[in-house]
Amino acid sequence: MKSSSSKKKLIGYFGFPRRDILRDVRDRVGFDVPLVDLDVDHGAPDSGVLPVTTCRIITNIIDNAMNFRGRLAVVVAAVGEGKCDRGRHVSFLLGNMGFEVVESRFPPEEFENRELVFSTGHAPLADKIERIMETVVDPSPQRNMPGPCEPTHGFWGVPPHDFRVLELFPPTTHVYGWTRCVEAGRPGDMELECRVGEGVPTVFFTQSFCAKQDIARYLAEKYGGLAIDCHREINDSILAKVEAFIRLS
Ligand code: SF4
Repeated sequence: MKSSSSKKKLIGYFGFPRRDILRDVRDRVGFDVPLVDLDVDHGAPDSGVLPVTTCRIITNIIDNAMNFRGRLAVVVAAVGEGKCDRGRHVSFLLGNMGFEVVESRFPPEEFENRELVFSTGHAPLADKIERIMETVVDPSPQRNMPGPCEPTHGFWGVPPHDFRVLELFPPTTHVYGWTRCVEAGRPGDMELECRVGEGVPTVFFTQSFCAKQDIARYLAEKYGGLAIDCHREINDSILAKVEAFIRLS
């Protein structure tokens, strides 16, 4: 979805909002109105609204919102522990810039316990992460679900801004961290977020300037994994580090 010229309305969201809030908003605005995940890179130009030391995902939210301005009927904003403090900040900023914002806090009482089909399945890592993120909007069973596999490697973290790093991993890579929490329907479950396979060589990925770096570094040391972070596009040095780690482990 790169064009902002069409007048078709959109419902924006970021993070993992509560399902009932998303449903109520869609009911009000129209179930035929497309949803757009504002966390994701949709090719929006740099709005320059945020400091350069803002994590790339939060910058995507603002840049996308500015690019889709006039089309966004509403933004459903995950602002609780299932996102991060910056989710709350960006929600505040969008509200002050004139966007209609509906805030969502996903409480532990609403945590689900969904089967981890993609996190533990045999398929290309990028596909698994994309399909996990699709369950935020539609948690019903999807077609062509992958079969389970034993993990040869692990990827811990949020979906990266630049998916190219994911192409380095074998299809036997298990998904850990916040992305696994999304598939389970438990955003903000710290215990699950920090659970990884003992002995599974794991890359702990964070966007630069993300608070999750504190946890990633700790877990990488604890489990002998590789902690990496990157700001915008993945560079060759990060790719080489990850490639070497995967090849040698
Ligand atoms: S990458 Fe980190 S700081 Fe950025 S939105 Fe995600 S959790 Fe928040």
